[in-house]
Amino acid sequence: MIHIDGSFGEGGGQILRTAMVLAALTGKELQLTNIRAKRRKPGLMRQHLACVKAVAEITGGSISGAKLNSQELSFSPGQVRAGDYHFVVGSAGSAILIAQCAILCLLDAEGPSTVVIEGGTHAANAPIFDFFERVYLPCLKLMGSELWATLDRAGFYPAGGGRITLGIRPQDIWQSFELHSRGDLRHARLVTVSHGVDAQIPRDELRYCRDALAFDFPFTDQIKTVDAHGPGNVLFAELEYANITELFSVCGDFSLGRQTVGERVANMVNNYLGLDAPVWSYLADQLLLPMAIGAGGSFRTCKPSQHSKTNSEVIKAFLDVDITMTEEKSGQYRIEVRT
Ligand code: ATP
Repeated sequence: MIHIDGSFGEGGGQILRTAMVLAALTGKELQLTNIRAKRRKPGLMRQHLACVKAVAEITGGSISGAKLNSQELSFSPGQVRAGDYHFVVGSAGSAILIAQCAILCLLDAEGPSTVVIEGGTHAANAPIFDFFERVYLPCLKLMGSELWATLDRAGFYPAGGGRITLGIRPQDIWQSFELHSRGDLRHARLVTVSHGVDAQIPRDELRYCRDALAFDFPFTDQIKTVDAHGPGNVLFAELEYANITELFSVCGDFSLGRQTVGERVANMVNNYLGLDAPVWSYLADQLLLPMAIGAGGSFRTCKPSQHSKTNSEVIKAFLDVDITMTEEKSGQYRIEVRT
């Protein structure tokens, strides 16, 4: 039985997701307490509950405490089973964070699986679908995974109702993940994805973003409208290099004006371009789990976030791995996972 205190370190939903996946893959029983204790509304929100139920269904395991707002749960995993799964978040909570958990479990199954997930596909404080498709999945493919994902319908806050479909083949052999340089720049895009919002909003977001960019960089602009159940909007900058694509997104909402959206995206780009490392902080915390269950490796990145440090401690509670974060020069780090 592994006991994880959810109030530790970052104290949010990622502790729960990493612990559930590792319980499923190692067969170890899990007891989680103080779930999301450092959040304004602690306990399981719909998105976390959907994730817990998804992992339990994939393993056929038993679970207690899996209800809304619960701050404690225990999970007794069964065996990971291939299949055709359908999970519904029931809010605009991120379908992508559930997809990441389902994938890491189902790569360990005996046969191929498909997964349909309904929820938010462009949610705040989570990877948007575009990041998942063009940043996260290519990294898994470099580790040897065979999978695909489609966006069937976008889902924004507050209506949700987005839908993604995944295909996952079982994986026996993992490649070590090594990523130390970006390689040559191929494309740089500033993109807005919207449904049902005033047409001036995306134009203004792009303008504010351009004005705040500190580097004279060859960005092209793209204004996309998509099908969705309710209005929403996101701005992102996508930098595609030979070895890595990185993507910096901010979702617009009523409390966040178009100027703030534009400037926040520009700030992330400015910080990334001021660094000589391929991996930005969001991707860094998301790479640790697949590297730890796979063949390890190393990458260069910015200063490790609290998410990365906390995730690495949860991983080490389940697996006998070494995760080191070493400063190479000011603000630039090398993270190494040895399995
Ligand atoms: P909560 O923070 O409410 O507990 P949560 O489960 O949604 O809930 P976190 O534990 O904060 O959230 O984890 C969020 C995950 O989303 C992290 O892996 C983080 O790297 C990722 N993430 C957040 N914002 C972005 C972004 N703009 N682009 C890519 N990934 C992101």
